Amino acid sequence: MNFEMNDQQWEDWKWQHATRCQDLSTLRAWMDASKASLDLDQNQFEAITSNYRMGITPYYFSLIKKFDPTDPIFRQIVPASDELTITPDERVDPISDENPARGSRPLKALIHRYTNRVLLIPTAQCAVYCRFCFRKRLVGDTTHNAREEDLNQAYDYIGQHDEIEEVILTGGDPLTLGDDAIASILIRLESIKHIRLIRIHTRLPVVNPFRLTPELAQIVRNCSKPIWISAHFNHPNEITATSKNRIGGWINQGIPFVNQSVLLRDVNDSATTLKALFMSLLEIKIKPYYLHQADLVQGTGHLRVPIDRGLQLLRELQGELPGYAIPHYVYDQPDGSGKIPIQNKYL
Ligand code: SF4
Repeated sequence: MNFEMNDQQWEDWKWQHATRCQDLSTLRAWMDASKASLDLDQNQFEAITSNYRMGITPYYFSLIKKFDPTDPIFRQIVPASDELTITPDERVDPISDENPARGSRPLKALIHRYTNRVLLIPTAQCAVYCRFCFRKRLVGDTTHNAREEDLNQAYDYIGQHDEIEEVILTGGDPLTLGDDAIASILIRLESIKHIRLIRIHTRLPVVNPFRLTPELAQIVRNCSKPIWISAHFNHPNEITATSKNRIGGWINQGIPFVNQSVLLRDVNDSATTLKALFMSLLEIKIKPYYLHQADLVQGTGHLRVPIDRGLQLLRELQGELPGYAIPHYVYDQPDGSGKIPIQNKYL
């Protein structure tokens, strides 16, 4: 890959965002520059991306070591013809976010599944479009971005429900918003007395760590409520000197991080890889929090790992890792009733 840019541009999160690979000709050009070819024709590419778009930051692309689906970064981010295979058990909305019978999405910008916490969705845009995403149905679609009135309705709802103690900013990826937009959301949330915690779910520390600027850290620190960052590292190759440095800069200012990973076939479904991932996360002071069983999203069968295999991996890790390195292995139930732990029985 040979970009015409200087170091200052490379380290500018907005440049990374604006220079993303979003079409086949750019993808081919980036791969040509790396002397690799793509095993996907125009028709296949259009069939896949008309349903679920592609987006890859130059930084994340630069982490690819082998330009084929055996590479854990390539496999997570480059469209594959396997996505055209949809099995009968796969769904558009695999965890029933939209199920009106459960009333879990009372407003466009809000999901209220658990009594004391809500998801606030200010944007449907992401920095990259992960091929396994469980919200494929909405991410990247601008009609799902929250407008000001949607956010105002969400703040009113949260204010009227004093059982809500935690607000989780998710999407899409909330850190794709500009500093002013993030500051304005945090100011509104901190004015709601019964909110005790704010969490930000984001893949930016992985795919565009330059977003973790000192200015944004200051905005987070200015909020009077504790803010936890939930990052989304899936493979040890994603932990780089840059991400360590940027995350370390935030952690040293007292901003805590946890991590959630998705168990993905031929990405991280080996005890060796998971051990390396979880230990590397602890080394950079991030607690591995969840290991998600991949949801039954349409066109993701090639990335899912059977639950039996997930349990076997956890057995292999038991005793190999300190207890606090092992995340909860969880499954989000398709009927919308929420996450349940998946556990081995030892006693
Ligand atoms: S960043 Fe998160 S929401 Fe966005 S595509 Fe990836 S998994 Fe989906």
